[in-house]
Parts: sequence; structure tokens; C-alpha cells
Amino acid sequence: MSGVWPGSAFTRRDGELLVGGVGLRDLAERFGTPLHALDEEEVRRRCQAFRRAFPGADVAYAGKAFLCRAMAGWVAEEGLALDVCSAGELAVARAAGFPAGRILLHGNAKTPEDLHDALEYGVGRIVVDSFHEICRLATLRPASRLLVRVTPGVDGHTHAAMNTGVDGQKFGFPLSTGAAAEAVRRVLAQPGLTLGGLHCHLGSQITGAAAYEEAVRRMVALLAAVREEHGVTLDELDLGGGFGVAYRPGEPELDPETAGEAIGKTLRAACAEHRTPVPRLTIEPGRAIVARAGVTVYRVLGVKRGLVAVDGGMSDNPRPGLYGARYTARLVGRRTTCAEREVTVVGRHCEAGDVLARDVPLPADVRPGDLLAVPVTGAYHHAMASNYNLVRRPPVVGVGFGRARLLVRRETPEDLLLRDVG
Ligand SMILES: *Cc1c(COP(=O)(O)O)cnc(C)c1O
Repeated sequence: MSGVWPGSAFTRRDGELLVGGVGLRDLAERFGTPLHALDEEEVRRRCQAFRRAFPGADVAYAGKAFLCRAMAGWVAEEGLALDVCSAGELAVARAAGFPAGRILLHGNAKTPEDLHDALEYGVGRIVVDSFHEICRLATLRPASRLLVRVTPGVDGHTHAAMNTGVDGQKFGFPLSTGAAAEAVRRVLAQPGLTLGGLHCHLGSQITGAAAYEEAVRRMVALLAAVREEHGVTLDELDLGGGFGVAYRPGEPELDPETAGEAIGKTLRAACAEHRTPVPRLTIEPGRAIVARAGVTVYRVLGVKRGLVAVDGGMSDNPRPGLYGARYTARLVGRRTTCAEREVTVVGRHCEAGDVLARDVPLPADVRPGDLLAVPVTGAYHHAMASNYNLVRRPPVVGVGFGRARLLVRRETPEDLLLRDVG
């Protein structure tokens, strides 16, 4: 069980909420609303927590959760590696000077541009996802190590749209059909390719360690089978990301210590059982690094019939619509003694489904002009934002050590018109 605000969050007596030592009302006045505040210290603390919980492992931040140059820089300084899955994410990593050798390229359908740019920059690892891709890579002869993405057939017990470890979804080579073993065979048969190890990713928002433990047992069995068949000892096992976080107070989350201990123990036991050397572990947390570092600040524009409408919505947070995700919200920037009542916070978009937080207790005197803060918005929010209704995407403001710094500016009408070249 866990809280949902960044560790630095602190409510002053006047009702102002400080994050990273900076007041959210001050931020709203300086940068406008809606805005995303991102707590640098929280990001760094979580990077450190994963490194401590998985000693000896390579911790790769999954950049798709949120990436900008500053974020890439923090992650690099904390000694993490970086997952990218497009030429765009790679371009940001490059612009931040992220060391190429510590970058992994993912994707079930990598474009020629993705592969070209990754090879040009010299990324350390490429995770292969199809037989066709093995053929393409064989002609490109990359210097990168390859990992074969295996679908271990383990159910992460998460939302179907995020359940990537089961057979029948679009990622990876199924273990059950023998496709994974065949992929290993084909990579090893290519003299121009270097097979480094195996990869799997069970999905996202996984709140128990059991699915990871089952994946470890199945993946170690495959490592042992590869050793038996080819006499090749693969020295890397990448278990992907998916470590779940709480979005509302009291929801379960998978903390790094629990996961690290369970996975490490199971890995050593499974390797002993198969008499195979313990591979170096790689994990790829995205959400668990950055989700709780983010807080979104909205301004209330209207109140009617238990609905509080704010100046953002599904364009800055598509997750309620995509996954039925639930959020909490609170009033910030002023004090009130008014009793609370349950309301639903809705956005400004032209869809009835544009709901940000259903049934949340807010003071009964919430009125237009007030500021609301929604926590746990650091991952898959700005990264998934759209321009629906030609609403301009909000800025990302880095906070920490009592200071605020604009990391990504708000879009302008000119930004929208720049691409409209007809
Ligand atoms: C999405 C993804 C991750 C990160 O998932 P989180 O739930 O954000 O931890 C890691 N690895 C791969 C291959 C992914 O697709």
C-alpha cells in the first residue's frame, strides 16, 4: 500500500501544496495551466531504489513512459540504461548525449528509419521481435548485441491492452510453439549477428512478483535448452518492465525491494536446478521510475451537478479512456474549511467520455478559478498526449531543490500551424 504524491510533497498552512520545494499555485501563475510538474528528486530516488533492489543488474529506463532531454540526462547520471522504441525517442536520447552503448532498441515493427538511426548511433542492444527482422539484421550486420524477445506465456493479470506476456498478442516469439527456440537457432546461424541473450516483458501495472518468478523459471529453462542444443551460454536475461504503481491512496504497488528479492532468489534457484550459470539480469522499469514524480495542475472552469470541469482532459491524459484508469484529485493553492462531497472531474473535450477522475472527494466550495492537482501523472501522460480539439499540449516543468525549470514548453498556435502546410 502506498501514497500517491511525490515524497517531497508538503501542504503549507495556507493550503498551498509544495512539490520539490515549489508551490503549485506559483507554478500555475508562472507557467499557466494545465501544466505537468515533474519532481527531479523523486525520479532520481526511484532510479537509485531500483539499482539497490537489483544489485548487479542493468536497470534500463523505458523511455516511452516519458522522455525529454533533461529526463534522459537524470537517468544517465543515475547510471541507468535506456530503452527506446522509435527513431524519435532515439533522437531525444542522442540530443541528450545518452551513451549509445547503454541504449536498447525495442519494437515489434521497427521501421527502416528506426534501424538505420540505431545502427548509425551504435546502440548497444537490439531486441528482435520477428523472423523477418532477423533476416533484415543479417544483411545490416549490426555491431549491437541482439536479444530475442520471447513470449513466455505468463499472464501478468493486468488490463488486456497491457498484457504482453501471453500468447496471441503481437509481441515476441512464443515459447510454447517452439518459435523462441527457432529464433535463437536462426540468429546463431548468422555469422554477422551476435546473440547476447533473451528478453521478455509481461506487461504493465503488474502488482505481484509471482508472474515475474514464473517468467524467470520458463526463461531459465530456455537458456538451459539453448546451452544444451548449441553449446552457447547466453549471459543476459532481460525481464522487461511492468512494475505496478498506485494511482489512488491504498492501491497496491510492486515495490522494487520485494520484486528484486523474489526475482533474484528464483533466478538463482532456477539456474542451480538447470546447472546453468546465472545470467546478468536486465530490467526495464518505466512507469515505476517516473509516474509518481509527476503532478498535473488544472484550473477549474465550471461546476455543475457534481461535475467539475477543468482546462485539460483526454488530450493530456488519455488513460481513463484507454484503460479505465482511475485517479484522485485535490484542491491546491487555497485553504478551505468546507466539508467534502464526491464529484467527478471532467475535461474540456467534445466527448462524454472525457473524464479525468470519477467520484473524488473535493471541498463543496470548489469554484471556477480554483486549482486542482492530480497525482501520479509522470508516466504515459505527456508521452501519450494529443492535440485533440487542437488543444495545445501542456508544458513539463522540472521541480526540485526549491526551484522550477521549464523542460518542455507549452505548444503555441504557431506550433500547430507549422505543420499545416496545405
Ligand atoms: C512498456 C515497456 C516497458 C516499460 O513498462 P512499464 O510498465 O512502464 O514499466 C519495458 N519494456 C518493454 C519492452 C516495454 O514495452
